[in-house]
Amino acid sequence: MTPPRSTWLPSRRDFLAASSTALAGSLLPGRALAALRRRHAAAAPDPSPLRIGMLADPHNDLVHDGEERIRVFVECMRREHVDAILQLGDFCTPKPANDRFMEVWRRFRGPRHHVLGNHDMDGGHDVAETLTYWQVERRYRSFDAGGFHFVVLDTNDPPPGEERRGYPAGVRPDQLAWLTVDLAATALPTVVLSHQPLGRRCVRNRDEVLAVLAAAKHAETGRRKVVACFAGHLHADDHVVVDGIHHVIVNSMSYFWLGPPYARIRYSEEVDRTHPTMKFTAPYLDPLFTVVTFDPRGTIAMTGLDSEWVGPSPLDCGFPKDAELVQAGAVAPRISARTLSFEPPAG
Ligand SMILES: [Zn+2]
Repeated sequence: MTPPRSTWLPSRRDFLAASSTALAGSLLPGRALAALRRRHAAAAPDPSPLRIGMLADPHNDLVHDGEERIRVFVECMRREHVDAILQLGDFCTPKPANDRFMEVWRRFRGPRHHVLGNHDMDGGHDVAETLTYWQVERRYRSFDAGGFHFVVLDTNDPPPGEERRGYPAGVRPDQLAWLTVDLAATALPTVVLSHQPLGRRCVRNRDEVLAVLAAAKHAETGRRKVVACFAGHLHADDHVVVDGIHHVIVNSMSYFWLGPPYARIRYSEEVDRTHPTMKFTAPYLDPLFTVVTFDPRGTIAMTGLDSEWVGPSPLDCGFPKDAELVQAGAVAPRISARTLSFEPPAG
């Protein structure tokens, strides 16, 4: 069962309109909204499954239009009446220039979940400052919602001795021990959230972490507890299965990172002056995000969203065709609609 590619998310015109007004007007036409409600009603009888609006890597510190992008997201999530919103890291650092971005994010009045990204402490900030700024108590933690157990990991947790080598990407023994105990205690299908993906090679002790996830089994049926992992970081539209566990990368809300060899002015000289790293990116015209429906009877369904590049595509700029993510079809201005199936704990 693959949900139809969504046509209800904001069109480019809506996004531009939202960019130029204090509050977006009608991002969701009534007819589209009614069709969406019918679709959800048809796909999901009672009890209505948990729906979470999810985004990754807006990078508000780098982009010139992060506030407009988050505004479109929050407006859509409010109109959709999702149960919660969640960001998968590289969100914003704790500095006054990001106050308005945070203020827009907080216009969503339900639970707002945060995952720590490697760029969220840039500029000399420490983890405690960022967590305080986001109003989050712990860098790794877990919670239950909608018949699922959710685990938030901090994958910026350098193994001993590697604290100062570039951006950290790891899970230290104390967090791994906590994870083992946390997974042992739940009887619910479990979803793991981290900034750096565990399904691709990003976390130094990835194999250790995957082993802990694979070992967590329901006592009576022997079925695995962890059914899916969601991450960001690579700015890609990706899904792989490892040890029978779905690993999804939610594409960046804002852009694909190309780097200095591919520098190109995408917007204007003015934007280049105020946001000089934008020329190293291939931006997405629309803000990308997804609504994920968690049904404990055995499916996790993501809405899709298609946009387009601002300026030439990465391949048109000479970005290597043999790059792993290009080969995987994951470098695209898109979040794919996906339905992930899993075995519920019993039955
Ligand atoms: Zn990152």
